[in-house]
Amino acid sequence: MERWPLLQARVLETSRQQLRLCQVRGHGRCLEAQVTCTLGQCLAEESPLVLGSSDGIWLAKACCVSEEEELDAMDDLLAGCLCLHVGLDVEKQQLAQELSRESSLVGAVGQDRLSKCLSSDLLEALGPDVAPILSQWRACCDVNAETWVETVDESEHTCPLIRHVRFLFGLFAALAMVEHSCQPNARVEWDSSAQAMKLVAMSDIACGQRISRSYLDAGLLMAPTSIRKVVLQQDWRFECTCLRCRCSVQEIDWTDVMMPFLPDENSDSQTGPKGRLTLQRCAGPFGLTLDPAAVQAIRRAGAACQALGVPPVGTLHFLQDVVSDLLSRGSGGSLATITLCLPGVCELGDPYQPEGNDTVDTVKKECSSRSHSGTRARSSKENRLNE
Ligand SMILES: [Zn+2]
Repeated sequence: MERWPLLQARVLETSRQQLRLCQVRGHGRCLEAQVTCTLGQCLAEESPLVLGSSDGIWLAKACCVSEEEELDAMDDLLAGCLCLHVGLDVEKQQLAQELSRESSLVGAVGQDRLSKCLSSDLLEALGPDVAPILSQWRACCDVNAETWVETVDESEHTCPLIRHVRFLFGLFAALAMVEHSCQPNARVEWDSSAQAMKLVAMSDIACGQRISRSYLDAGLLMAPTSIRKVVLQQDWRFECTCLRCRCSVQEIDWTDVMMPFLPDENSDSQTGPKGRLTLQRCAGPFGLTLDPAAVQAIRRAGAACQALGVPPVGTLHFLQDVVSDLLSRGSGGSLATITLCLPGVCELGDPYQPEGNDTVDTVKKECSSRSHSGTRARSSKENRLNE
């Protein structure tokens, strides 16, 4: 991989030599196991090049956002990238350039609304060629950024029925090289205590085998081939040729499988006729409210994944984690309503929090070390909690 020296070095370093970067004709860049790996093994661990969040840390640093401007987390991430671009960290900058060089979307984005609200200092540092730089980073983030949810509660003193969550967006270099499969052999999991993303094997992997993960969030990963193909083509511009997509055997009738996270137009409750969970219907002004039926659907979702031969990923993995935490804290096996609130939006008091103060900065230091898996940013559209 002489063409991508920094990326190759990053892959070797973050995977402790377990993986290497390779290029497959017709597939592009991907990662390959250099050793035999077993189910549950951590294959790589990487800190984000840039981290964005729903609380706008980067925006505050990089932009002079007026009240009329509404910027989302992706803009926040992009602002972070631009700071990186003009900052002193040359190695990260070059690494990001190697990352974005192959993007077919570079140049497709024109003048951006973000440029209108960047601080004058940043605009000056970026120079007169701000538009192409902006376009390149936008394209890089669109294709490679991850999105995931993190709980920000102090784990020991928090009521498990009310959890505070925030959305994180990040850009990773080595992990962005993992190829997609609809029947992946690995998934990414965020470790909040280490503030790093881990790549974890979901099956035994032979030496020389390629590493794959799902770019799609749980609902779409569990959807039939015809739907997955359309989304992958629209959002990532490639035709999936994974084993599951090529399989000529009739797929399990997915309508008979308990299918969380797919909207069901004909149902009034949170869960539809076959126990399908409709997250959009759970969304309220304070976040996401999961009633006992929804909690039950989440608990049973593992069986659906098993029937389809896919690992629980993304939002499903996060929700399973929240529910199993609730059950492990002695709820006596009975199901209760869980509320997931966004910090700063939620008005619900938490009787278990002594100060009644749940600002992200104070809580983050002691936040839970449990990990949640993320998905590529584009696939999050189906499951954004409070949009
Ligand atoms: Zn596929």
